[in-house]
Amino acid sequence: MIDTEKYPQGVYATKVSQAIGFLLKTSIWPATFGLACCAIEMMASGTPDYDIARFGSERFAATPRQADCMIVAGRVSQKFAPVLRQVYDQMTEPKWVISMGVCASSGGMFNNYAIVQGVDHIVPVDVYLPGCPPRPEMLLNALITLHNQLIATPIGLNRQKAARAAEEAALNATPLIEQKGLLA
Ligand code: SF4
Repeated sequence: MIDTEKYPQGVYATKVSQAIGFLLKTSIWPATFGLACCAIEMMASGTPDYDIARFGSERFAATPRQADCMIVAGRVSQKFAPVLRQVYDQMTEPKWVISMGVCASSGGMFNNYAIVQGVDHIVPVDVYLPGCPPRPEMLLNALITLHNQLIATPIGLNRQKAARAAEEAALNATPLIEQKGLLA
C-alpha cells in the first residue's frame, strides 16, 4: 500500500500521484457483477461494437480479490445489500464504484421497502450513471470520467481516507425520497 503522505508535498508528490494515477487508469479491472437489466448493457460494452478493451477494462474478474472496480448494474435489493458490501470489502485497494442506471443510483421506479434507495448507502460511489438503461457508450463515458478522477484524486492511504469519509457521509445522509411502498 502506498502512503503518499510519506513523499514531500508539492510538485514532486503531485507528479508521483499523477504517474501512479495514469498507470492505474489504464488497467481498471471490473468485478463480474450484474444485478438486473442494466447488466445486459454492461455486457454489451465488451462486444466488438463498443470494445471496452480500448480502455484496458475488458478483464471482468470472477473473484473480487482480482478486481478494483465495482459496476453496480441494476437495482439492489435489501436482501442483496450485505452480499454487495461483502464483495466490495473483498476487492483490492484502491477500488472504485460506478453506479450504473437510475435503479442503482436512487432506487429508480422501485420506491418500495424491498429496494435500496441508492447504492451509496452501502458503498462509496465514484461515478453516477443516469438512464434506464444507460447505453454501453454511457458506461464507457463513465469509465473515462473515472480515469480523469484517478489522475486528480489522492492514492494509497489518502485515497482510503477519502473513501471512508465519503462512505460515512453517504451512510449518515437521509434518503432523498420517502419510502412509501405500493399501497401508500
Ligand atoms: S435502471 Fe432500468 S434497465 Fe437498469 S436495472 Fe433499473 S429498470 Fe433495469
